[in-house]
Amino acid sequence: MSPMSNHRARSSSPSSDQPTRRDLLVGAAVAAVAASAARHARAEGAARPVAVASANGLEAVRRAVERMAAGVAPVDAAVDGVAIVEADPEDVTVGLGGLPNADGVVQLDACCMDGPTMRAGAVAALEGFRHPARVALEVMRRTTRVLLVGEGAARFARSIGLPEEDLLTERARKIWLYWKANMSDRDDWVEFPGQVDDPDVAWYIAKYGVIRPTGTINLCAVDAAGNIGGTTSTSGLAFKMPGRVGDSPVIGAGLYVDNEVGAAGSTGRGESVIEVAGAHTAVELMRGGASPTDACLGALRRIVSATRVPALLDDRGRPNFDVKFYAVNRVGEVGSAAMWSGGKFAVCRAGGEPELLDCAHVYEKV
Ligand code: ASP
Repeated sequence: MSPMSNHRARSSSPSSDQPTRRDLLVGAAVAAVAASAARHARAEGAARPVAVASANGLEAVRRAVERMAAGVAPVDAAVDGVAIVEADPEDVTVGLGGLPNADGVVQLDACCMDGPTMRAGAVAALEGFRHPARVALEVMRRTTRVLLVGEGAARFARSIGLPEEDLLTERARKIWLYWKANMSDRDDWVEFPGQVDDPDVAWYIAKYGVIRPTGTINLCAVDAAGNIGGTTSTSGLAFKMPGRVGDSPVIGAGLYVDNEVGAAGSTGRGESVIEVAGAHTAVELMRGGASPTDACLGALRRIVSATRVPALLDDRGRPNFDVKFYAVNRVGEVGSAAMWSGGKFAVCRAGGEPELLDCAHVYEKV
């Protein structure tokens, strides 16, 4: 395991070294001042507006920062930013061209949250609308509800006039068939001659390397005044069980925003994020004084200790899947951490170019 910051309290001794109540109070006050000084020191280098996102959000963070610089609220800027990726068929993990479920149907999940109002909106298993984050935003703005699913979510999107279309691209359909052909030697499907050489299938294998890649976009944004918003959008786990919903549309799991503290979101194995209320956990760790990077590592550490199903562990007892968290605090510091080394995340600040930075990590990939 890589060295993660260790917040464990020193054990108290029963000797005369035992601190008095006053010592504890003074100690706490000194610690609070030190923590606040550290927070301010960190703030100096953190220009706002700022947006942080998963690695596929390089252009999305640029757009979000441009929008906030033009006066758009962070939650709207975030949704505008991820719309680029939702509309891009080259990203098979989000929006148009997203990989379908096991039945070959594209079902999208998304949510958004607005720090100043603490309101949220979400949609799950939505079919036929390429911008689920926008639908989530409209749920938040136009209704008193938070989460709409399936046909009800589609009827809502239709009712407000959003354009409906078939999201299954030719490429995604061929990749789905390739997955079916490689699932089992006991079902009815086999690989047919030339299937792997098909340019779309070959493109997929070269780009993602695995049959069921992880993907999703999370984007959290802080404007010049320190207001915060965020969104997460995905086509979910590739070839998922019909009806399966992961962390992305679940407020507190795939995204959480608190205007007093910051925002966090996730990508990767959604079930594991839901089980530790991942994004909320990261925000609460920041509330306790953790930097965004340490908060992301802390949420991952919860996943490590919660993962007990043997099928999810490698031969050394470590989670055999990836999860990444992304976080920003209200002063504009950003951070990200992944279960496994090698991950990147996207950041853009006012007046700067978007860049990809290395995620901290829990385990080193060999
Ligand atoms: N978190 C998403 C889900 O579980 C998928 C992913 O990010 O790969 O649906």
